[in-house]
Amino acid sequence: MAEKSYLDLKSSVWDTGKCSGCGACIAVCPADALSFAEGEMVTSPRSTGYCKQATDNVRCGACFDACPRTGEQPAETLGTYLELIPAKAAFEIPHRQSGGAVTAILANALDEGLVDAVVTVTEDRWTKKPSSVVITRSDVLVQQAGSRYSWWVPLLAALKNAVVERKFRHIAVVGVPCAVQALGRIRASDNDLLKPYAKSIRLVIGLFCTETFDYTALIHGKLRTHYKLEPHEIRKLDVKGKLEILKEDGSTATVPLAELETCIRNGCHSCTDLTAVMSDISAGAIGSPFGMTTLIIRNPVGKGFVDSAVRNQKLIPGTGADIAAIEKLAMMKIKKNIKK
Ligand SMILES: Cc1cc2nc3c(=O)[nH]c(=O)nc-3n(C[C@H](O)[C@H](O)[C@H](O)COP(=O)(O)OP(=O)(O)OC[C@H]3O[C@@H](n4cnc5c(N)ncnc54)[C@H](O)[C@@H]3O)c2cc1C
Ligand code: SF4
Ligand code: SF4
Repeated sequence: MAEKSYLDLKSSVWDTGKCSGCGACIAVCPADALSFAEGEMVTSPRSTGYCKQATDNVRCGACFDACPRTGEQPAETLGTYLELIPAKAAFEIPHRQSGGAVTAILANALDEGLVDAVVTVTEDRWTKKPSSVVITRSDVLVQQAGSRYSWWVPLLAALKNAVVERKFRHIAVVGVPCAVQALGRIRASDNDLLKPYAKSIRLVIGLFCTETFDYTALIHGKLRTHYKLEPHEIRKLDVKGKLEILKEDGSTATVPLAELETCIRNGCHSCTDLTAVMSDISAGAIGSPFGMTTLIIRNPVGKGFVDSAVRNQKLIPGTGADIAAIEKLAMMKIKKNIKK
């Protein structure tokens, strides 16, 4: 039977508004034929028109097999796990989003040689434009801590750089749930073209996510034009029932989420996974006191990375996470998006 091609991805995901923008299809296309255009509210990738499968009838299907939107959507609140705990970094991380636990686990993994590269998302200090990157040093990782909370980037596009060009074979990836689902599909796939990626991924850390906002629509359309806030004036964004803005001068501002509806990426409206149930470790703010990160340690791989960070005094574990609060938010997301 012929493999699916990008034309099947186009009809079932791009044209139906389900694309999350994770970038997995772009990363794994062996012909480099898929990309995202620049601009506001680009909702799905585009193709050059060339396709190994559709044009040359050479077995491929990599893009279709990696896409998180071609299969069943997870609809679990917490997923399976071994431990669910609050935790924080044992050292100073100035820009951390919550307790800095994600950075602490990854910095320890790099320092100990458990991984040789981390695929993650950073942002430009002046424009706040996000980009997906490959980081190989713990000090760089610490400088780049913090959530690119409210704007989107095709994270997994950097995976090709890590695996194919730079040939890293022990990679950790940090991603929002849709990116984690794509990695789950890549790891479980029997498509030979996906195996180099699957074999190179040692750890997947998923960040809790309710939705993401389009960079241009939020930063330029809403905050700059409407609220007269320049990108370089923003130090940190957070979403806690409203958009909370910490400015570089230390002052704060808030924007009601209702005003940001038009900035939400289309694909997020059909997403039912808050806690990244297919990760090795999930991390979020909800469920822990201020200054701590909630960690859902899902399997022995995740536990090994956490235990190593604790043993090396990089991570301080706590007790008493508010599991009910996480379940409640996760269920709200499922109910809101399940029929879309
Ligand atoms: C878009 C988005 C929405 C979120 N929504 C929620 C929510 O609704 N409820 C909740 O409890 N938590 C949410 N989180 C998670 C929360 O903001 C923190 O990321 C989490 O608590 C970990 O905090 P930390 O201090 O341990 O992470 P840090 O130590 O600050 O490290 C964060 C790491 O994540 C990487 N990163 C940042 N943004 C992205 C991104 N977009 N994609 C991939 N990697 C990234 C950074 O490079 C860094 O390595 C969201 C995060 C994001 C990115
Ligand atoms: S969801 Fe990800 S893999 Fe699927 S079409 Fe969109 S960018 Fe590509
Ligand atoms: S809400 Fe879902 S689709 Fe949207 S960025 Fe978050 S994980 Fe991806």
